[in-house]
Amino acid sequence: MTEGSGPTAFSHSLWSQEIRFYRAPPHAHVTITLVKTFYIETFGCQMNAHDSEKVIGTLIAEGYHQVPTPDEAELVFYNTCSIRDKAEQKVFHRLDQFKAQFKSGNLAGKKFAVLGCVAQQEGEKIFDKAPHVSMVCGSASYTKLPQMLVQLEAGNRRVTGLSLDTDLTFDTPLTRRDNPHRAYITIIEGCDKACAYCVVPFTRGPERSRTSASLMAEARQLADMGYTEIQLLGQNVNSYRDPSPAAWDFAQALDQVGRVPGIRRVRFTTSHPRDFKKSIVDAIDANPALCDHVHLPVQSGSTRILDAMQRLYTREEYLQRIAWMKAAQRPIAITTDIIVGFPGETEADLAATLDLLTTVGYDAIFSFKYSRRPNTAALQLDDQISEDEKSRRLQIVQEHQRQLQIRQNAAYLDTVHECMVEGFNKATGQWMGRTSQHKTLNFIYAGADDLTGQYVHARVTRSGPNSLAGERVQ
Ligand code: SAM
Ligand code: SF4
Repeated sequence: MTEGSGPTAFSHSLWSQEIRFYRAPPHAHVTITLVKTFYIETFGCQMNAHDSEKVIGTLIAEGYHQVPTPDEAELVFYNTCSIRDKAEQKVFHRLDQFKAQFKSGNLAGKKFAVLGCVAQQEGEKIFDKAPHVSMVCGSASYTKLPQMLVQLEAGNRRVTGLSLDTDLTFDTPLTRRDNPHRAYITIIEGCDKACAYCVVPFTRGPERSRTSASLMAEARQLADMGYTEIQLLGQNVNSYRDPSPAAWDFAQALDQVGRVPGIRRVRFTTSHPRDFKKSIVDAIDANPALCDHVHLPVQSGSTRILDAMQRLYTREEYLQRIAWMKAAQRPIAITTDIIVGFPGETEADLAATLDLLTTVGYDAIFSFKYSRRPNTAALQLDDQISEDEKSRRLQIVQEHQRQLQIRQNAAYLDTVHECMVEGFNKATGQWMGRTSQHKTLNFIYAGADDLTGQYVHARVTRSGPNSLAGERVQ
């Protein structure tokens, strides 16, 4: 400790640690605060983005300070995704960018950590592939991050958090949220399904739901902080089961979050069709805060392929869920995920998928080429399809859906929608709005006030395949 004489503060860098000296009044003791810096880059899905918000909150509580580039940081974190091969390669590409510097001794004091799905999947092999990495930690071990950071700071070169044997969820009051209007809440972690193509059960472990009390406490706290939209997250939110005696199911949890005063919109993702109950549609019908949108991944329109994928439903059972939504009072927009080129997929199976797209009339789809993943059942299947053929099928699916969306979106012309304003696009001079159906509605408004975060109405005057455009109306 040192003594100072004025109220000013200054800082300088000493090796890799920034030390701030605070000058205090005469005779006061002055604390030297060691500010340790970190950089984090996130790959993949919304779950990962929200995990990073929680990791950032935890790091800040442990005395770390976030910096915008890896060059400025002592600790560099990559929160990774391994859902498809390409996502995984990106991470190793990032790590490779530092390899040469590491070999030449230029990275003294800098530490690298790999978090998330690639960490869980590759485990300690990462230390061989990228020797400058000191920590690998899967999402099921994030509750142990503070202890792992202590080990890292103590100079331990190989810190691991790879156990999947947990019934804990990563609930933390320390979440550092960037968006001031929309907040994410994880209600269930892991996945108990075994889809033949999917690595998630191996990287995120078994399902763990959080208690309804902790969920509601977080939702109320977010409302008090001024958030108006909440998105409930999980690999399969439909199998949410409150572990406390209240034993809420997903429809109850959804409804109750939508009743928190101040919360105007609630969304959820992702739903598994097998666990998607009619009570969810009934809840949407009964509660205006629940958004007019369900993302219900189908993956294929062919029952034969769904069976090979171990998806646990047939095309007909899936269409039954769609019928519930179409029969609702509310205009529920439906989106989905499609995988093309799963082993053994024939032209007839592809045609069944195209036919399903037409039958359902999805508002949007996310479509992917099947990617072979370690540990998954589909690796053993014969009749793998070539990359060129998968690309051809993907293009057919996307063009088919594009034509459907052009027609469907044209039906919105001259309709008025409430939009949550996400920001202003200087390039186009339009405000970016999001409707309850999760459609982008860009609109013009002559006023000078900042609409970001507000709920306003806009009339659709133009439509395209991927968005709507219009003007603000009072
Ligand atoms: N849990 C969600 C569900 O069951 O629909 C989805 C989770 S996953 C992060 C999102 C999407 O990635 C899946 O719906 C699927 O379409 C796609 N996906 C997963 N594994 C894949 C693979 N091996 N190849 C291509 N796409 C894959
Ligand atoms: Fe993967 Fe299937 Fe679980 Fe979704 S439900 S995360 S696709 S295993």
